[in-house]
Amino acid sequence: MTFEELGLLPELLKAVADAGYTEPTPIQAQAIPVVLAGKDVMGGAQTGTGKTAGFVLPLLQRLARHASTSPSPARHPVRALILTPTRELAMQVHESVQTYGKYIPLRDLVVYGGVDIKPQTEALRRGVEIVVATPGRLLDHVQQKSVNFNSVEVLVLDEADRMLDMGFIPDIKRILAMLPKERQSLLFSATFSEEIKKLADTMLKAPVLIEVARRNAVTETVTHRMHPVDADNKRQLLAHILKTSSLKQVLVFVGTKFGASRLAHYLEKQGIEATAIHGDKSQQQRTEALDDFKSGKARVLVATDVAARGLDIDDLPHVINFELPHVPEDYVHRIGRTGRAGKEGDATSLVCAEERGKLAEIEKLIKRPIEQVVVPGFEPGAEFSGPAEKRRGRGGRTEKGEDSREKSSSPRREPRSRERDEAGRERREPRRVEPAKAKLPKLDFDPSKPYESRGSSTDTAAPEPKRSHHRPKRPVPALLGGLPKPEPETEK
Ligand code: AMP
Repeated sequence: MTFEELGLLPELLKAVADAGYTEPTPIQAQAIPVVLAGKDVMGGAQTGTGKTAGFVLPLLQRLARHASTSPSPARHPVRALILTPTRELAMQVHESVQTYGKYIPLRDLVVYGGVDIKPQTEALRRGVEIVVATPGRLLDHVQQKSVNFNSVEVLVLDEADRMLDMGFIPDIKRILAMLPKERQSLLFSATFSEEIKKLADTMLKAPVLIEVARRNAVTETVTHRMHPVDADNKRQLLAHILKTSSLKQVLVFVGTKFGASRLAHYLEKQGIEATAIHGDKSQQQRTEALDDFKSGKARVLVATDVAARGLDIDDLPHVINFELPHVPEDYVHRIGRTGRAGKEGDATSLVCAEERGKLAEIEKLIKRPIEQVVVPGFEPGAEFSGPAEKRRGRGGRTEKGEDSREKSSSPRREPRSRERDEAGRERREPRRVEPAKAKLPKLDFDPSKPYESRGSSTDTAAPEPKRSHHRPKRPVPALLGGLPKPEPETEK
């Protein structure tokens, strides 16, 4: 299959060739003809599959007939709306729109919170055909009457599962209610829970279902290990691992924004160059942190799941889970950037007694045990072998999901994960004491399925969490270093 065979316009073929793509990825091969035909799509695909070009290319082609060089705003109404959960993803998708649309004179704009709203307002008033936006900031523009949706022909909801996790569904519904009924809608999600299916029912008409597997190479070359350790010793163990290994470019995941800053600070004090990225950082701080990490100035990037989502880091060799994620799917997201293109990658998790339930769920999801390696000097106490407590709900999440949890915690508050994410697993003994460099088994996902969606799983450990229908409160500006418009971890 070639891009020519997909029937794309010469302007798009040229842009694709400039980008160096020789053939469409599976999701592109499937999605492009369907979107070109004007049909709705329910797409199961993750970042890394080429899904962005899968919807951006045909979207550009469908709108190309409206391309105009007229300066009149009336000639440039909003024709396509692409909603993403995070600023980083919005920026990335916008970049793709610019890359693939560079030979088609359509106007595009990215709209997200945490930055001055005025330039966005002015650009919207001048007229723009394609708007990539995070929901909160888009609604601010609606309130200001700087945007009008009467001419919207195509709606794209990217990473819908993440939107749900972040409590954005009420915002999405408000936006949906303002769009013309006659439109094309595309929904992409890595997982399909009942809630996502319900949302799809309300926004899609006779959608074509497109699902693609994760690239096999991503996971086949990733080794997984976990180090059992007492919660109080995690920081020291992390520093030990970083000091005694030659790991470069390590992405460390934590559960809370405050935890991210605190851990990066601790590592710095230990002489390890580290930086943190999370939603309380200004856009400029995030960009700087990412640049430092990419350039090697910072060896370690400590991130929350939300902040890391959509980060444009193509090839990352090492991921360390300082805390296990609240839902097992996030484990798969976290390691999604390692081991790409057949390169070796590794995912190391520091697991304390309270997290054994989460570990069990991850192992169930990835369908294999993760080897336990006790690091000498960091052996866990007897608590680790004791019976695990029952979990209170799926993933032990807070009502509002991961991001509202991060957002609502004041900077002095301890992460709630330990109080809430209790184990649902019976006894688990550390299997052996070995040096951390032991050769570990490789993960192999079933290539026909990205991974088992919790929503469709019949062996889900616990019921779905109740999610809030309110957007979480904004943090106090003073705590955020006097940002003009504080941006919570729930991206706007
Ligand atoms: P995405 O899943 O949309 O985030 O894309 C992941 C990466 O794949 C991006 O860096 C794209 O530039 C790249 N990509 C997208 N389509 C292709 C293609 N057909 N061939 C090679 N690389 C691609």
